[in-house]
Amino acid sequence: MQIDLQGKVAIVTGAGRGIGREIALTLASEGVITVVTDVNEANLEAIKQEFEQLGYQGSQYLCDVRDFNRIQQVVGAVVESYGHLDILVNNAGVAAGGMVTSLQEEVWDLNLDINLKGTFLMCKGVIPVMKRQRSGRIINAASFAAIVPSIGSAAYASSKAGVSQFTRVLAGELGPWNITVNCYAPGMIPTDMNHFAERPEKDQERLLDTLTLRRWGSKDDVANLICFLASDLAEYITGTMIDVSGG
Ligand code: NAD
Repeated sequence: MQIDLQGKVAIVTGAGRGIGREIALTLASEGVITVVTDVNEANLEAIKQEFEQLGYQGSQYLCDVRDFNRIQQVVGAVVESYGHLDILVNNAGVAAGGMVTSLQEEVWDLNLDINLKGTFLMCKGVIPVMKRQRSGRIINAASFAAIVPSIGSAAYASSKAGVSQFTRVLAGELGPWNITVNCYAPGMIPTDMNHFAERPEKDQERLLDTLTLRRWGSKDDVANLICFLASDLAEYITGTMIDVSGG
């Protein structure tokens, strides 16, 4: 039994850095034609060069997941270049925090617009293509924060809880077209998003003790799950959230 993704076409959003970058590189290493999108031009250029050096297939597009016109342009360009679109990984996200009483409305909107509405808009962009193909894999980034309350993360956690329910509803809508929709809930994966390296060592140790496996998650841990969900091995899995948090 093997994960065979050779020749599939994937879009990974927010893939200029962090977990998304690792997902893009891992998919590409498995022979997936990988389209990297992000709002950060410098990071897109860096991953473009990395793809060239490694001989990976794919392309890079500047695309804000809040901009539906741009999403349609990118999806159109991908289909024109490669003829099909098999996988969408909605990874782009922000985690702007604050206690509810002092939380600015703009910060609330930022979390909801990028994490939840951005996921909706990307799906809206690719669904017509996947329906025509009568196949597709949509994989959304939720978070452990959607399940476990974490003080000061109301906006982020609400957006991710929204992603998990959106995933279930969309899976029901797209099942008849053989399109699966799932989401994954990472725990603490050290990246720039959570400023992990800047946390005091004592905090890090305390957090580590709460993990069943007593080790931090890696970007690979998440990327491996994405490869599985994108593969034929996961063809009967839909409408679910998979925890990748070390327990
Ligand atoms: P990160 O901040 O390192 O990367 C996020 C990427 O999204 C960046 O490249 C950024 O430029 C891009 N982005 C931000 N706004 C965008 C927009 N409007 N349009 C397109 N791209 C945009 O974060 P990460 O830690 O790699 O997290 C990736 C995903 O995983 C996020 O959805 C995050 O919520 C989720 N997640 C992360 C953790 C963790 O511990 N790191 C835990 C749970 C969930």
